[in-house]
Amino acid sequence: MTSIVRLYGNQPTKCGYCSEKKESHQYVLEAVSLSIEDYQLLLDRGWRRSGMHLYQPNRQNICCVPYTIRLNTALFVPTKADKRVLRKLETYLVQGDKKRKRSQDQNQDERPLKKVALVDSRCEEIKELLKNTIWTYITPFVDDLNKAKEALDGKICVLREKSAKVKLERGNYTSPFAHVVCAYLKKQGKSQNVDVDTVAKDLCRLITLPENLTITATKGFLNVYDMTSVSESTPSLPEKAEEKTQDAEKQQKREWHLETIRPTNTPEIYEIYKAYQEHVHNDTAVTPASFESFLVATPLPTKPASTQGSFFQLYRLDNELIAVGVIDIIGKNWSSVYFFYKPEYSHLQLGTYSALREIARCNGGYYYMGYYIANCIKMQYKARFTPSELLCPMTLQFVPLTKQIQALVDADASKVVQLNAEEVAQEKGDVDDIILHYPQGAIRVKDAKSSLHPAILTHLEDFIKVAGPELIQRLRVQMF
Ligand SMILES: [Zn+2]
Repeated sequence: MTSIVRLYGNQPTKCGYCSEKKESHQYVLEAVSLSIEDYQLLLDRGWRRSGMHLYQPNRQNICCVPYTIRLNTALFVPTKADKRVLRKLETYLVQGDKKRKRSQDQNQDERPLKKVALVDSRCEEIKELLKNTIWTYITPFVDDLNKAKEALDGKICVLREKSAKVKLERGNYTSPFAHVVCAYLKKQGKSQNVDVDTVAKDLCRLITLPENLTITATKGFLNVYDMTSVSESTPSLPEKAEEKTQDAEKQQKREWHLETIRPTNTPEIYEIYKAYQEHVHNDTAVTPASFESFLVATPLPTKPASTQGSFFQLYRLDNELIAVGVIDIIGKNWSSVYFFYKPEYSHLQLGTYSALREIARCNGGYYYMGYYIANCIKMQYKARFTPSELLCPMTLQFVPLTKQIQALVDADASKVVQLNAEEVAQEKGDVDDIILHYPQGAIRVKDAKSSLHPAILTHLEDFIKVAGPELIQRLRVQMF
């Protein structure tokens, strides 16, 4: 397959990783067609795909530096927190209907929190972590943080759940704090539109807990599960867990299916995407066309029998589609493009669950997780899968993501850091070698130079900087 691209050049964009949202730039190209091999080369130079477009953030003048992150799945060992996610789904398969019915019947106001309230040192620890997260969270919303701290400090409470039955549903610890934050922000007139569910979910995403604690948000309550109190009888590896899930399926009414298909826009899939974008990202401008161009369109080969290229992984529970993972399979490597799910199933931590399944199925290759962004809490989860590697933006080599490297990168999110000591090679690409693609055929720049406008040559020089000497001889540049 010949790769054919159209060059859009450096395009302005707003940083989507931090609250500053400063203007940054990215180099964008549209791929009319793209071979698997060329896509791999682009990924290893820090590019990402979005529909038919590929982009590489311009790291020269940037708000938050993105580092390509990939996981070596051959050496991957799931953590206790990962196992907890797998177990949670198993429990749900067994008890789901009952649990769902209970939560439908039970109004949040009827929760008998006071009856089960107990305080211990774990409570205090969670409370401290929660407090710190809350101060970070409300900073953009309030004029005077100290005043807000004063007003809210005494109201932060974390309660320990006593009954085993309640624990299963609500975690070992629970905090109604999102309700308090929400009420305060409304009272200050800062965020009339804010709702308690969103606040709880945001806090859930922002908080960093010790490895053995996991947190979910339900109806504005933050529920913390303490894994150290869970028995270790369940399997340790995702593959084994999958087998167990399948065994469980046979015995239970609820059935769990994973289906892999080529990207397609059906009403069933689109509805989930729309609900997810609206609920999780507050994106109200979703249309079938925007879905199509973001996740369905792909320049990669789509031969029906091939196991390579772009796919949707459909997760179904009792024949109900509940989540979709968008992935690219490139040789033996997998690239996770996107993941969306029905918001009402957020308590199952499907993002982590699907990542674990993708890692298991990647089976020894590299699992590309997109970008790691320093200090961006939304992206921190990527660093918890180990052993992973970051692409050094200067030497273009992958470097093991150790605690030291992470600290180096986290020290200044806007500074491009060289991650290894290798000498930065001066890439020598010659504009003459670029292949231009016309309907009549292909021609090298050196043979067409006299007919090319100088502005086009400048444009092509920019392309060399982002694509490098090897790719410019492989990708054909469409000029019409
Ligand atoms: Zn930023």
